Amino acid sequence: MINEKKISKAGGVTIPSGIRRELGIENGERVKIDVNNAGDIILKRITGSCILCGGNENLIKVDNKYICKGCISKINDIVKD
Ligand SMILES: [Zn+2]
Repeated sequence: MINEKKISKAGGVTIPSGIRRELGIENGERVKIDVNNAGDIILKRITGSCILCGGNENLIKVDNKYICKGCISKINDIVKD
């Protein structure tokens, strides 16, 4: 899939709707912008952060919010007692 886009005056680029649809990218989602050694611009999705600890690894989506597996494990321990 080859897509060419023009960069706007403000420096913006629109991700084609087909790609957004295919990847399930939603409005308001955040991305991290990086440049590799070859000078390629890399967009990396930030899926969110845990509502309890703020971490961003091992996230599970619950009602459009994220919670990490570590916090779920802590909650499970509390609920067991
Ligand atoms: Zn957490």
